[in-house]
Amino acid sequence: MKATIIGGGIIGLSTAYYLQQEGWEVTILERGDLTDGCSFGNMGYLSPSHFAPLAQPGVVSQGIMWMFRQKSPFYVRPALSRNLLDWGLKFVRACTTENVARGARPMAELLLLSRDLTAAWQQSGEMQFEFTPTGCINYFQTAKYEKGELENVRMGHDLGLKIMVLSREECQAMEPELQPEVRGGAWYQDDAILYPNELMRQLANLLENRGVKILRNTEVVSVQKQQGKISALEYRTAEPTSRPARFQKPYRSETPMPGSGEQHTIQSDLFVLAAGSWSQPIAKMAGEYLPMMPGKGYSMTVDIEHQPLRHPCILLEAKVAITPWAKRLRIGSTMEIGAVNDRILVPRVQGILEAVPRFFPAYAQEPGFVKLSDPEMLQKHLRERVWYGFRPLSTDGLPYIGFAPKTANLMIATGHAMLGLSMAAATGKLVSEMASGKSTSMDVQAFGLGRLG
Ligand SMILES: Cc1cc2nc3c(=O)[nH]c(=O)nc-3n(C[C@H](O)[C@H](O)[C@H](O)COP(=O)(O)OP(=O)(O)OC[C@H]3O[C@@H](n4cnc5c(N)ncnc54)[C@H](O)[C@@H]3O)c2cc1C
Repeated sequence: MKATIIGGGIIGLSTAYYLQQEGWEVTILERGDLTDGCSFGNMGYLSPSHFAPLAQPGVVSQGIMWMFRQKSPFYVRPALSRNLLDWGLKFVRACTTENVARGARPMAELLLLSRDLTAAWQQSGEMQFEFTPTGCINYFQTAKYEKGELENVRMGHDLGLKIMVLSREECQAMEPELQPEVRGGAWYQDDAILYPNELMRQLANLLENRGVKILRNTEVVSVQKQQGKISALEYRTAEPTSRPARFQKPYRSETPMPGSGEQHTIQSDLFVLAAGSWSQPIAKMAGEYLPMMPGKGYSMTVDIEHQPLRHPCILLEAKVAITPWAKRLRIGSTMEIGAVNDRILVPRVQGILEAVPRFFPAYAQEPGFVKLSDPEMLQKHLRERVWYGFRPLSTDGLPYIGFAPKTANLMIATGHAMLGLSMAAATGKLVSEMASGKSTSMDVQAFGLGRLG
């Protein structure tokens, strides 16, 4: 049985891994060359701590307040776009306590399953990537954020997560070299970090060694359907360009592809749509309704000799994440909702970097950080220093995983937002189980496409 996956991000690759294990003959069609993209420059967190769906009470009012601050971590790019309006209305309607109550348990189960499967990839020795299961600390500086965090801790405990609430002194003892300037923190011990760039490289190599075909620089441009099934996908190959695939807009027939643009078709028993923030137009070609928006985020990475930070952490008031790998530091944040674009909003990048020494004054002298945040160097080398990717946002904060409602041989695996890496292994496993007609490792109802009506 043949399976074709559209998109070679972490979701597409993980799905290929498990489908191949189930005996499928797998081909991946990937528009880029698998050296960049949302699945590479992310923060590397595996986050069971993020069980609460993104659509939750308070998000909209906080977002509106942040809209008016240039350096804030949230921004909606205003546009007269039907997609943005449709997605926005649905998202606002989903920001309820019911959505959190409905989504938190399946999200926690999916995240924990995925963390265990990813750890098993590393422990089996089939792939070698840096993996550190030391948990993640969420730091807060104000009573308002402490209150919100303690509510998250309460819910996490109810879901069986291992979490310790830390006083200011305990936070400082966790980071003796950096002495964080905080009111307290919550240490989510089920969380882990890995180095996503290496995982992506290793996973692609492993798949190719096992016979999975990965067609790079290959863009799906149309979908042929007959009797409620996809009969073929049409794709074009392009010469590799220096322009990263990650900010290319979806193919439109009026814009010629660069390079030779040779056109081909591919038939398959099963198609899996895992094209991240570009999934919606492809779903539409198949006659499927898939409301989604890209949520742009930035990260900055620097090589360092000595790593003073012992635990990955999130600075809650600033919504900034810091990832300490053995020889690297990555800092990232922001959620800019709007169409895919290649603009870098410098004040928001500065906002991210300025937040770090507010929580960790010692970073003001730390050589790695100083190198990363030097404003002159940042401006001069903006494009090399600042990476950005597009999180695929669903309307209710839960991913879309399951069979497409109107197309019998199409499965959808996208909409993972800020948790694509955290949920990838479990998503791939669940897709392969559903595709193979097996019982699934967990209840998948909450992620089904039926909820879109
Ligand atoms: C700053 C930032 C930090 C993040 N940190 C974390 C984190 O710490 N932990 C976490 O779990 N998640 C994190 N995320 C989110 C995570 O990176 C994403 O959820 C995840 O990468 C999405 O994976 P994907 O495979 O769905 O999409 P992508 O990685 O975007 O892959 C989709 C692929 O489809 C290809 N494609 C698109 N259109 C076509 C077409 N027509 N034909 C063929 N191919 C096509 C694209 O080229 C792309 O390679 C972060 C995101 C950002 C931006």
